[in-house]
Amino acid sequence: MNIVLFQGFLKVVIDGHAPKAVLFTCMDSRVLPTRFTQSDVGDMFVVRNAGNLVPHAKLFGTELVITTEPAALELACVVNKIRDVIVCGHSDCKAMNLLHAVRTPEEMMKTPSSPLRQWVSRHGATSLTHWEKFEASGFKAPLTFDLGSKTVLTHIDPDNKFEATDKLSQINALTQLQNVASYPFMQPLIKTGEMRLHALWFDIYTGEIYYFSQKKGAFAIVNEETSTDIMDEISAMYIHSEKAVAA
Ligand SMILES: [Zn+2]
Repeated sequence: MNIVLFQGFLKVVIDGHAPKAVLFTCMDSRVLPTRFTQSDVGDMFVVRNAGNLVPHAKLFGTELVITTEPAALELACVVNKIRDVIVCGHSDCKAMNLLHAVRTPEEMMKTPSSPLRQWVSRHGATSLTHWEKFEASGFKAPLTFDLGSKTVLTHIDPDNKFEATDKLSQINALTQLQNVASYPFMQPLIKTGEMRLHALWFDIYTGEIYYFSQKKGAFAIVNEETSTDIMDEISAMYIHSEKAVAA
């Protein structure tokens, strides 16, 4: 990864003095978001949990399911008027590995008192559904993600570089963007283009960062060859966003 180029990406997302982005990422100790984003004090909100999960709006608000992630989203995007939401997954994610392992009904019934199993099973269920559809196609068929303003036909790991669990991790990052878009306080801003959604994926073994290109419908590695296209795509989102605010 060329960190200078990635700093360039973040310079667009994080423009200076006030928090301009909220990042949902995994609590894994090998993931250091302030390092790989080269962000500093005051740059962004960071919300971390096992598996970078954001509960879907339909799963929030019952007596049994109260989680902090929707509150963090509201604090960032409504109270602080942040307009960039980033979900970042990573390779060898233990939460995704567990989700992959517990997908059979028999496994689901084991250790029902495990908070971690309950957490990944409940809030990773949609990711798993996407993954199973992908697996059934021999890991070849494109998947569809509804990101609020548009539906994106997506090719996961088209070069077949990653393990099945890492494919699940990439699918999961995109599924969580869907979940971000499920909240009523987010929907109008996303639909007009005022709110921008981004997905990143971090390969902890190579240090490479991938940015989800909605234009390409795939995660694109951030390097010298791809950075111009990625920056152009992000810049276009900003231009669209400014027009939405002015309208
Ligand atoms: Zn993880």
